[in-house]
Amino acid sequence: MGEFDLIKRFFTRATPRAVLGVGDDCALLQPKPGMQMAISTDMLVSGRHFFADVDPRALGHKALAVNLSDLAACGASPLAFTLALSLPQADEAWLEPFSQGLLALADLHGCELVGGDTTKGPLNICITVFGEVPVGQALLRSGARAGDDVYASGTLGDASLALAQLLAQRNGDAAPLPLCAEDMALARQRLEWPTPRLALGLALRGVATAAADISDGLLGDLGHILERSGVGATLDTAKALGLLGAPHRSAQAAAQLGEPAMRERLLQHVLSGGDDYELVFTAAPGQRDAVQAAARASQTPVTRIGQIEATPGLRLLDAQGQLLAQRFQSFDHFGASA
Ligand code: ADP
Ligand code: MG
Repeated sequence: MGEFDLIKRFFTRATPRAVLGVGDDCALLQPKPGMQMAISTDMLVSGRHFFADVDPRALGHKALAVNLSDLAACGASPLAFTLALSLPQADEAWLEPFSQGLLALADLHGCELVGGDTTKGPLNICITVFGEVPVGQALLRSGARAGDDVYASGTLGDASLALAQLLAQRNGDAAPLPLCAEDMALARQRLEWPTPRLALGLALRGVATAAADISDGLLGDLGHILERSGVGATLDTAKALGLLGAPHRSAQAAAQLGEPAMRERLLQHVLSGGDDYELVFTAAPGQRDAVQAAARASQTPVTRIGQIEATPGLRLLDAQGQLLAQRFQSFDHFGASA
């Protein structure tokens, strides 16, 4: 199978929304009057962002999901995407499920594959997504103001917990946390099949003052909001710990939640674990009802976990309101721990 057969067979589809899709030198998109285009790119590198032997269907899903998550964070709705693919070989048994996972999520959100590039090389998937948002209504990182509440959607920490368990398994090490099989399956689902919070992002237009998606960990991504907005925040770590999904259902882990070391390890996953693709956002206290209405409308739970303050920096409070001294790091590809 040659390059063009491959493109035709797996990545060429009808594109009723785009003016022109795959097959020419450029795709053509026509934004509706009064709309701005929201554009974002994310690259997934084998061995860096995923195990080379991961289920290709899940990989296809995730490659697009992480890009859609950026649109969600901006309150934009998806229009189209391009796919730049580097593949070691044209393996149909891999391409078939990969394209199915990718295009099933694309269809779910009406996001059309309009072009891309295909080359031979190490497995590498780069997607650029195009969305639209009414002029001036995009949610930005820069809008947080002192006094705003800080919220996170869904659950946090599950994806990085699953990754830690999988890495331990691969290395033949003891499991870092006592997760039952059912909870491990849930956590792994969160790692491999993330849900972009598009409906929530849309519902938060005009309600949230700032937003970001959580790809590198809550502290790091909230940190981007603080920096861009020129503010600081305090976070209630007891509330944040309540955001942990799977291990709460795990009887064994729940029993150990009282242990300080276990508690700290779980908190580390919640605060610094990446790959959850939830939204962290801020809104004025006067908008609490509107935030809950947005959560209901989008069927996405949101939890208030802190407060924006004028003083720069991020302060973590324990259940007693005492300042926590621990330092938690978010993921940084060129950071010391990467
Ligand atoms: P060019 O050489 O002009 O860059 P190509 O020959 O690489 O174009 O690609 C031919 C057409 O196929 C283009 O419309 C391009 O956007 C599309 N395409 C290439 N690879 C992919 C892919 N992986 N997914 C979707 N479309 C693709
Ligand atoms: Mg060309």
